[in-house]
Amino acid sequence: MLSKVLPGEIASRLPAEAPERAEPFEALLGDFQSIVLPGITHWNSPRFFAYFATSAAPIGITAEALAAALDVKAMLWRTSPAATELEEVVMRWLARLIGLPNAFTGIIYDTASIGGFTALAAARESLGLDIRERGMTARDLPKLRVYITSETHSHIEKACIALGLGRENVVRVETDAELRMRSDDLAQRLGADIAAGMRPMAIVATVGTTSTTSCDPVQEIAAIARERKVWLHVDAAYAGAAAIMPEFRSILAGVDNADSVVVNPHKWLFVPMDCSALFVRDPEMLRRAFSIVPEYVLQHQDASSGTNFMEYGLQLGRRFRALKLWFVLRYYGAEGLREHLRRHIALAQEFAGWVEAQADWEILAPHPFSVVCFRYAPPGLDEAALEKLNARILDDTNATGKVFLSHTKIRGRYALRLAIGNIATTRDDVALAWEMLRDIALSS
Ligand SMILES: *Cc1c(COP(=O)(O)O)cnc(C)c1O
Repeated sequence: MLSKVLPGEIASRLPAEAPERAEPFEALLGDFQSIVLPGITHWNSPRFFAYFATSAAPIGITAEALAAALDVKAMLWRTSPAATELEEVVMRWLARLIGLPNAFTGIIYDTASIGGFTALAAARESLGLDIRERGMTARDLPKLRVYITSETHSHIEKACIALGLGRENVVRVETDAELRMRSDDLAQRLGADIAAGMRPMAIVATVGTTSTTSCDPVQEIAAIARERKVWLHVDAAYAGAAAIMPEFRSILAGVDNADSVVVNPHKWLFVPMDCSALFVRDPEMLRRAFSIVPEYVLQHQDASSGTNFMEYGLQLGRRFRALKLWFVLRYYGAEGLREHLRRHIALAQEFAGWVEAQADWEILAPHPFSVVCFRYAPPGLDEAALEKLNARILDDTNATGKVFLSHTKIRGRYALRLAIGNIATTRDDVALAWEMLRDIALSS
């Protein structure tokens, strides 16, 4: 499960130089098994419960092999019309499945981090400050501000660094008792910043935060974003998938007023890494931010033919990522996907019930989806002792190699974190994790 190799161990088993002579395939496969596999942490295992559990479903792996064989670089429409048009169609499919209005256009990026960066670059472009041409240095520009919370994924801050905003202009809005952005605090900070001559550039709301899967009140935030004319980016990388179930549709309520939304099919829709969907209301803003068309690439007819995705982000050559999403959506059908998600959520709720039923264990955060934050909390221990104890339980549990969980901190409290998301995970897998945690806790 969790690889047990030491740092440098894999590298030390590899030669310093590439081989001069051709090697037989058997040698490669042999080394794959003896050198590489021991250094793999098995993300595609049904007993992987760390971070966000994900799956590369077999049908998705098949699609990846086919895409690799075709080896297209879908930068222009004509460099593979099928890759571009399939991407456009499956993005519309996905938008409909999660209930996004038709006004959104979807584009596939490798990760939510890059999709988020791309959205924020468009947000910066939308300010009309001519940063694209004149840059940000040696100019009299207002401070550009981005509003997040302590729970927002770190890629937003990285994007702000890369976009030249500076970390001090990433504003952390207060959260409520359930770790949701407080819209009253957001409104107050926006007002204060504007009064101080600053320029709000974007608000980032999260549906399903990485730590506890809390959901910011998008509807309230969207109303504020509208009123202040600030770009709203909704990061639903993990939980957005849940909106394919009618009973969870409401988690995206208000998103129709957002400017951009990210959902990761490579997280909880069984598509192999990498496949992240960015939906934007105004794709033209992405083009305005990124389109530079070298003469040697774009020919006269390209401008009038189909979409040239190279104009909508940093990448020139683009992998044929739509194929695996298309295969997965068709192979399982929306019904099949919903069944798996419902099963994962039910398993997580059942696990939370087991934790609650034990006197010395406690749940540390609401668990609306398939992630549970909890800890062993025998009486009489202070926070520091509880952290040490739970960190040891986690290490010892992971060291068995049978399951893999991770941890988080919730308002300074150390929490164990069990995430269910692999398509092959069964009740027995979850029960095994719970049994091991309890046994190890009792013996520690
Ligand atoms: C996982 C996650 C990300 C990062 O996803 P990548 O596709 O790995 O970049 C961003 N935001 C949230 C809320 C996440 O859960």
